[in-house]
Amino acid sequence: MKDLKVFQYNDMYSGGRRKTNYETIFVYATDLCEADKLFEEKLNLDPNESACLCCGADYVIDQVPKISIQNYRKNILIINNPHQRSTKWLI
Ligand SMILES: [Zn+2]
Repeated sequence: MKDLKVFQYNDMYSGGRRKTNYETIFVYATDLCEADKLFEEKLNLDPNESACLCCGADYVIDQVPKISIQNYRKNILIINNPHQRSTKWLI
């Protein structure tokens, strides 16, 4: 079983609006490719799109330490990994 990493998606308000109800979305995944896929399955939204050319990408995406989730108390969504159900989530 591979270790899961945490990928953080910050809504950049491109096009002047937030794309979902959440400012920040965390995804547990083995790699960025899987994280993007889980994000899209959960939110029916491609995180790599751009609302318009002038504003740039809809999301800034970074791999972050698991502990960083604890710094965000409000308005976040955490997407767990459906392929590793046995894992115990600390958050
Ligand atoms: Zn724009």
